[in-house]
Amino acid sequence: MADADIIRGLSAYLEARRELEGGLYLEDSLLESPGQLYCRSEDNFPSLAVFEKDISGCMKCPLGKTRTNFVFGTGNPHADIVFIGEAPGRDEDLQGEPFVGRAGQLLNKMLPQYGLKRSDIYICNILKCRPPGNRDPLPLEIELCEPYLWKQLEIIKPQILVSLGRIAAQTLLKTDAPLAKLRNNMHQYRNTPFFITYHPAALLRNNSLIDSAYQDLAKIKEYYDKVKS
Ligand code: SF4
Repeated sequence: MADADIIRGLSAYLEARRELEGGLYLEDSLLESPGQLYCRSEDNFPSLAVFEKDISGCMKCPLGKTRTNFVFGTGNPHADIVFIGEAPGRDEDLQGEPFVGRAGQLLNKMLPQYGLKRSDIYICNILKCRPPGNRDPLPLEIELCEPYLWKQLEIIKPQILVSLGRIAAQTLLKTDAPLAKLRNNMHQYRNTPFFITYHPAALLRNNSLIDSAYQDLAKIKEYYDKVKS
């Protein structure tokens, strides 16, 4: 392979890793022994804030061009519990924060009934940019954006994950099983216990689901208390 090809390949590789892992360095040993290449991240990310800054200009998929704001996630960076939705909606896109619209306000009201505050948890979406018209995320968008979620979870190291809604659950578990079946069991996502409940927007549309959603939260809180004790 020509030197120029090697350099182009190396450059593309470093750029891809930089997006996911922050600052990268070429070890001095590479200069002494060009046959070996080492890459390492800076303390495997010093913080979520650094990671957010690093990826906030992402244009990897077409949603980068149509978003108003990049919506990374908010909450306790050391949370034991992370709630995950599918993608930002209109209000989230406008404000740059997840779950700030009516659905988010409902979630904020529901959490304290189980001793949880919004400030205790971390909340984010699989996609960091709003799909136009709130359509479902497309497979390519998920493929390109889900690794950012993986990295967020690696930094936060939560002990419990909760999917808000069918789309997020099916996307993360790579299944088309119905929500009614999925929410009855605890699953695993990236080796972390993973619960599934309704998206608060679904509760706003259909009040009859509220009792079931509270049952889910009670189950999640019971597990959370076990983890914390
Ligand atoms: S949705 Fe994700 S992959 Fe697409 S532009 Fe936004 S941050 Fe990048």
